[in-house]
Amino acid sequence: MATEFSHEANQSPATAERRAEILANPGFGDYFSDHMVTIDWEGDYKTGGTWYDARVHPYGPLTLDPASAVFHYGQEIFEGIKGYRHADGSVWTFRPEKNAARFANSARRLSLPELPAETFIESLRELVKADEAWVPTGDGEAFYFRPFMIATEAYLGVRPAKHVQYHVIGSPAGNYFGTPEPVDIWLSTTYARAGEGGTGAAKCGGNYAASMIAQTEGEKHGCKQVIFKDPHRGDAIEELGGMNVFFIFGKENKIVTPELTGTILEGVTRSSLIQLAKDRGMTVEERAITLTEWREGVANGDITEIFACGTAAVVAPIGKLKAEDFEIPAPTEHFGEISKSLREELVGIQTGVVEDRHGWMTRLI
Ligand SMILES: *Cc1c(COP(=O)(O)O)cnc(C)c1O
Repeated sequence: MATEFSHEANQSPATAERRAEILANPGFGDYFSDHMVTIDWEGDYKTGGTWYDARVHPYGPLTLDPASAVFHYGQEIFEGIKGYRHADGSVWTFRPEKNAARFANSARRLSLPELPAETFIESLRELVKADEAWVPTGDGEAFYFRPFMIATEAYLGVRPAKHVQYHVIGSPAGNYFGTPEPVDIWLSTTYARAGEGGTGAAKCGGNYAASMIAQTEGEKHGCKQVIFKDPHRGDAIEELGGMNVFFIFGKENKIVTPELTGTILEGVTRSSLIQLAKDRGMTVEERAITLTEWREGVANGDITEIFACGTAAVVAPIGKLKAEDFEIPAPTEHFGEISKSLREELVGIQTGVVEDRHGWMTRLI
């Protein structure tokens, strides 16, 4: 059954001048549109519950009881998905059913209620309908949706909350990298992002909280991003704090990414790039890739390009790998040819200039 959303218009939205000023240089995650979506849930995690009071309302601070479970036990999950403006003015999103399914998986892992996929997709549509003027039109720009769910029950006992809220906020996003150059990344040998049986495969704030100390460590060594190893499998590489990783073996026309072991987050960008690489006739391997293979592959020229991927940055080339007591040089000084062309194809599909042959796009408005 379709969810009915009530609407309360923002009586003091940003002026057209202010909005234009923001859209001229949106950055990432700095500014938010005039409205947001909220849906409440009440129930019992074991026996189920009800989503109710779906509403579009003015963007603004939330009022929460200080005893709300999210503040104490971190029952929180989120998503990140973009809306793309096409040439005819319509706004589309990319594989939202994948994000909806992942959101449901994350919810299960964090003992939060599952939001039906139709409601998830409808909530994006409702927000963009209210704030269409906030969807940028520039090259590589998009409207970034941030859906999230928090435990709002005021109770300090430890058990799944009986009152939960789902929200969606939206933020105009600039071209993350104009012409990206490879960035050096830090290998954390002290800290893990996730562990076996943990929450690595769920998109939850706690994973990010746990990764920040490693990021700070990396920044001290001139690296903005951190890559983590699988603590249970020797020197196998997992992923970055918020992006999956790919290695291109140019001579063999092969692309390798760590397999999903339960500690890696299954990125929609990752899945889509695997498909695009297969479509090109590349060999795709999802398997363990170790530091030793990384080091030797770069040294003997088998590994020709390395990149990280995710919704926000799409495809971001990786340069050097730095660690406490060693370094692996960059396979290439510039954005590699194959990485760049995969990025262009994916962005082309998303922005409506390359044929959507897999039916990945959903029109929002
Ligand atoms: C969100 C996220 C990704 C990328 O997922 P996309 O669906 O491609 O945006 C990768 N790793 C982690 C840890 C993430 O949280």
